[in-house]
Amino acid sequence: MFQKILIANRGEIALRILRAAKELGIKTVVVHSTADANAMHVRLADESVCIGPPPSRDSYLNIHQIVAACEITGADAVHPGYGFLAENAKFADILAAHNITFIGPSGDHIRIMGDKIEAKRTAKRLGIPVVPGSDGAVTDEKEAKRIAAEIGYPVIIKASAGGGGRGMKVARNEEDVVTALQTARSEAGAAFGDDAVYIEKYLQKPRHIEVQIFGDGAGKGIHLGERDCSLQRRHQKVWEEAFSPALNEEERNRIGEICAKAVADLGYSGAGTIEFLYEDGEFYFIEMNTRLQVEHTITEAITGIDLVHEQIRVASGGGLSVRQEDVRFQGHAIECRINAEDPRTFVPSPGTITHFHTPGGLGIRVDSGVYSGYKIPPYYDSLIGKLIVHGRNRVECMMRLRRALDEFVVDGVNTTLPLFRDLVGNIDIANGDYDIHWLEKHLAATE
Ligand code: ADP
Repeated sequence: MFQKILIANRGEIALRILRAAKELGIKTVVVHSTADANAMHVRLADESVCIGPPPSRDSYLNIHQIVAACEITGADAVHPGYGFLAENAKFADILAAHNITFIGPSGDHIRIMGDKIEAKRTAKRLGIPVVPGSDGAVTDEKEAKRIAAEIGYPVIIKASAGGGGRGMKVARNEEDVVTALQTARSEAGAAFGDDAVYIEKYLQKPRHIEVQIFGDGAGKGIHLGERDCSLQRRHQKVWEEAFSPALNEEERNRIGEICAKAVADLGYSGAGTIEFLYEDGEFYFIEMNTRLQVEHTITEAITGIDLVHEQIRVASGGGLSVRQEDVRFQGHAIECRINAEDPRTFVPSPGTITHFHTPGGLGIRVDSGVYSGYKIPPYYDSLIGKLIVHGRNRVECMMRLRRALDEFVVDGVNTTLPLFRDLVGNIDIANGDYDIHWLEKHLAATE
């Protein structure tokens, strides 16, 4: 087991990892920017190292400084959390070259999944169902038109290096394809320094369903069920639930087993998420995230398994603590992402939290790094906490969520809490009847 883990992240996820390390009796080091000197994870860690000024590129993305912090403190492993360097293959390689364990998959697996064309090809080879589309990059108009005609309109042109919902263009007919191909390529080139794009069928009313997987790096793979993250705004997840209200047990087991087998065959190590669009009973792979996700907590709620413990175990060579047949699913869980944002315009609302009171009671978990008097810096993303609610079934979970939202108090800044109070009383949400476009339509209709 590791002696000392360095946490290369901030906010609620830094605290989340710190808690897991403490439970396992491992010493913790956190790195932080000058803007985060008073953050909770800095206060609670055994050691902390200031690695630079507020902008992420000078601190949380500064590989050189982070490796130096490992050397100075004698950390033998790094947990990257999510975002920042979590899916940076070069970072994983550099740590390996310094004999420091990256708590995550190999640099090569990060690289494959970071290139969407390569990821889709790999998924297909591993027997994962993918969205019908081009086999590789498309550069030529004629070819684009031919492929689009073959798969049928509408189609979507996506950047191979894309991320965060950027670099996508929908085309509804042949004329659209020509312009969409040009704009997608030039936008991808400008945003990602790589203008490779590919074409796939545009699904009109899909749900976003993702499967949590784990590999032990030695040929074993398990799945921990799915999460439904269809409630999105600008392709950003807002509310997640496990299980998906749309799947039956047969579908759940089928897709879970496909993913577990794929991960085993790949020799993948650690936690990962295989994301699908789901429409009319079919799953279509869109991408794989090679890290812990923000919404991993709802999987923890329904399985009782601490995913960060598992990540640390696997990375240290201890293997997985559970076999597929040991995984027991219990009840239903929902996570609401509490952002410091205007609940209507979603404009970030940094500033001082004058009062912070979290709900409690059975089935309630709040993961947050903030406190009364905490000043939210303007430099990073606006997530200030996650409310995770568990119940024996979806109805109980929704009742408990409504009560918990009533108890939650955040004064001094705007938050997305009013949005969740609205959603929890909505009939479509109560029925689990929503797709990836539902939230944006709802926001537009209630403007
Ligand atoms: P990113 O890495 O930028 O998040 P993804 O490939 O995961 O890109 O897609 C993000 C979102 O874009 C999906 O959750 C979905 O809302 C939409 N999307 C992507 N591909 C398709 C498709 N083929 N049909 C319909 N919507 C799509």
